Amino acid sequence: MADKPIILIVDDIPSNVQVLAGILKDDYTIKFATNGLRALELSAIEPKPDLILLDVMIPDMDGYEVCAKLKNDNNTKNIPVIFVTANGETVDEEMGFEMGGVDYITKPVNQAIVKARVKTQITIKKQYDELKSIAMHDKLTGLYNRHYLIDVADRKILSAHRHNTALCMIMLDIDHFKKVNDTYGHLTGDEVLKAIAKVLKFSTRAEDFVSRYGGEEFIIIFEGCDIKDGLLRVEKIREEIESLNPQNIKVTASFGISELSENHKNFDMLLKDADEALYIAKDNGRNQVVIK
Ligand code: GH3
Ligand code: MG
Ligand code: MG
Repeated sequence: MADKPIILIVDDIPSNVQVLAGILKDDYTIKFATNGLRALELSAIEPKPDLILLDVMIPDMDGYEVCAKLKNDNNTKNIPVIFVTANGETVDEEMGFEMGGVDYITKPVNQAIVKARVKTQITIKKQYDELKSIAMHDKLTGLYNRHYLIDVADRKILSAHRHNTALCMIMLDIDHFKKVNDTYGHLTGDEVLKAIAKVLKFSTRAEDFVSRYGGEEFIIIFEGCDIKDGLLRVEKIREEIESLNPQNIKVTASFGISELSENHKNFDMLLKDADEALYIAKDNGRNQVVIK
């Protein structure tokens, strides 16, 4: 969540938008939509809203339909929705909860109630985002963890197959890392892992996926990258690790790289090839990149 959480106000009557925006604009970044389609659009693009205030009566589709669509889409289902209903529509309020809304505010709106209800939902959303981030990341290195890798890898592979784009998977393993622990201690070993994770993060692009797969094993996914470019980029990473000397210790790593082909139906199949390539790199004397 950004410093100022983003609130999307959906209402077809500009004066209603103005009233809500006036109440919230000091504490939140405000976006607005005057119809359902635009609301769905704005909910799906980054940075996504942290909360939606959704009028029930809007022209193209009603608020419930908008909410149902948001809740049906993985990309938007976690954005909380507060319905804004006209006074006394108890049945509507029930319907709002059924459609996945988390709260409702009645019109004409009361400034203190709007502020309080919005604040409550934003606090919950912040906590949710934090927990989600903890669940996705490895604590020691800050990289994505194995759990999240497994969660996204098949989707990335499916998408590459569907759009006929290249994808490379890299598995790397630090060489003789047990010896680092045995010689310098586990805490120093941890520092070495952190330093190498930093190299991986900073020598890749924002759109690359870098994860800690296990103890001293990492998996990187280059999307839209063929084996020729992938190899060049991985070779650069190998050199950077070789010249890093974290904690004044000479450390190297071995790499297996595999390009997605028609035969790779899923993550496990592609991983198997990268893993076999890594095994060969180890067998051939370590500190090298092998393709399979
Ligand atoms: P190779 O070159 O064949 O990969 O040898 P290696 O010693 O790196 O491989 P091995 O699998 O024998 O040992 C891996 C070591 O990594 C053993 C384990 O204690 C250590 N390790 C795993 N996770 C952590 C961690 O979080 N911190 C530290 N300090 N060490 C870890
Ligand atoms: Mg290992
Ligand atoms: Mg190792």
